[in-house]
Amino acid sequence: MGYAAPDALSDVLSLLAQHPSARVVAGGTDFFPALGDGVPPETLIDVTRVAELGGITHGPEGWRIGAAVRWSEVIGHPLPPCFDALKTAARAVGSVQIQNVGTVAGNLCNASPAADGVPPLLALEAEVELTGPTGTRRMPVQEFLQGVRKTALRRGEILSAIHIPAQPDGAGSAFEKLGSRKYLVISIVMVAANIWCAGGRITGARVAVGAASPVAQRLPGLEGDLIGLPVDAPGPFTRPAHLTILSPIADVRGSAAYRAEAVAELCDRAIRGAMRHG
Ligand SMILES: Cc1cc2nc3c(=O)[nH]c(=O)nc-3n(C[C@H](O)[C@H](O)[C@H](O)COP(=O)(O)OP(=O)(O)OC[C@H]3O[C@@H](n4cnc5c(N)ncnc54)[C@H](O)[C@@H]3O)c2cc1C
Repeated sequence: MGYAAPDALSDVLSLLAQHPSARVVAGGTDFFPALGDGVPPETLIDVTRVAELGGITHGPEGWRIGAAVRWSEVIGHPLPPCFDALKTAARAVGSVQIQNVGTVAGNLCNASPAADGVPPLLALEAEVELTGPTGTRRMPVQEFLQGVRKTALRRGEILSAIHIPAQPDGAGSAFEKLGSRKYLVISIVMVAANIWCAGGRITGARVAVGAASPVAQRLPGLEGDLIGLPVDAPGPFTRPAHLTILSPIADVRGSAAYRAEAVAELCDRAIRGAMRHG
């Protein structure tokens, strides 16, 4: 297996053009466990040394998280409360060792239904930036994730950055994860909520659920019903009708009915948490 660690994005693209069967890798925390005893790719392209893919930056249009940014950088970076869900998710990814090498972009590109980074990014209405031989294109995360292990990435393209648009003033956010233990655990279900309020009432809400459908989903019915509620409304907020968009499965981690019940409770906790932290 060949290994290349270029330091320029143009070199990554050239290598991908020369070696169509090459695989891009960042922290390798999804790639290597999935490879197991399988046949390794002809060439592995490590993108973590590419300067253009590094850093978290903020400008008038919002934030940019480079594709080489690791979970521990998200945790350590000063970000407003609307990012609290993403930071909490970052702390829930595996362990400190995993957070020190695993990237947000790798979490997205792996397209697992249980990827903890996806609901917070949906609740931020994040977009991905994809760079390939014909240039750069952008699309919402919801469009990028097309199914279990399926993304909109084309041959020769890489995910180069994640863009988060400017968020409503005073927006708070929260993330709730249910696992069979506290750390180093794959989510049974998880929820991210971003909420903003004015005049004592909720004026905007985004609630996204992961591990309860092939791709994490926002709950538009619930989001709509939250608008106008007083900030001290006790709940419960989530009704079965809000969850019909989901299709939880039964597996070793839990039954479909358990997942559905847990989602409703986690949504309510995340909504209350987001209102507290706004
Ligand atoms: C012990 C352990 C615990 C874990 N716990 C959790 C957890 O709690 N929650 C969770 O969500 N995940 C968990 N994971 C999975 C993993 O750590 C995360 O998904 C991590 O964010 C993946 O990032 P990475 O940089 O290591 O990805 P990599 O393994 O490097 O790549 C993942 C996939 O994305 C592709 N890829 C990576 N970067 C790019 C790019 N820029 N452009 C195009 N394709 C790219 C790779 O080809 C590969 O297919 C765990 C993994 C381990 C080993």
